[in-house]
Amino acid sequence: MPFAALGLEPRLLSALKDAGYTEPTPIQGAAIPKILSGSDVIGIAQTGTGKTAAFVLPMLQLLANRPPVSGRKIRALVLAPTRELAAQIEENARAYARYVPFRMATIFGGVGERPQIQALRDNVELIIACPGRLLDLMQQRHGDFTGLEFLVLDEADRMLDMGFLPDIRRIVKQLPRKRQTLLFSATLSGEIEALTHEFLHNPATVQV
Ligand code: AMP
Repeated sequence: MPFAALGLEPRLLSALKDAGYTEPTPIQGAAIPKILSGSDVIGIAQTGTGKTAAFVLPMLQLLANRPPVSGRKIRALVLAPTRELAAQIEENARAYARYVPFRMATIFGGVGERPQIQALRDNVELIIACPGRLLDLMQQRHGDFTGLEFLVLDEADRMLDMGFLPDIRRIVKQLPRKRQTLLFSATLSGEIEALTHEFLHNPATVQV
């Protein structure tokens, strides 16, 4: 099945062609149409299955084709457990967004806050962040999340194992309730299910 059959638009298809992708992976085939339809989605998939593109591509498409809820505000937030994963998501997102330019920034601990604070002031639309540092910056009142349209919790099981749940709760409390939320996890444990009840609304589950 070609990517075009999933409903992706030409600018994203061109970027995928440049990346050398010829057809969607199973998680992409299952998740992309559901996310494009506007549904909250729980994706059960391991790293290496193409899960990053499964949420980044439809998110970029939806964001690119509708006006922001409000100008100069952050439109999408991806939470990830480690700086390595955050950096990897950003690298992928930049490649996929080659023909639909978005202002993006990554936010994680262990490096200076200044450039990250500046990025939050510079009208970034998409933020990829680790929960601890992002919460620090939000508590210092950096970043305007009142226009947020998308929340993605990537590797949610690892974030729970790393003890990020209290931070994630504090972050989500400051986000609009009307948003599309996507959660990806390698496993669907009782804890993860409880998390989906807390943060997602009528989610569809896709599993590969
Ligand atoms: P992920 O599971 O998101 O970490 O992706 C694993 C790797 O697969 C990454 O290096 C992606 O660039 C690559 N990838 C993702 N989707 C596809 C695809 N449809 N065809 C070929 N490679 C892909």
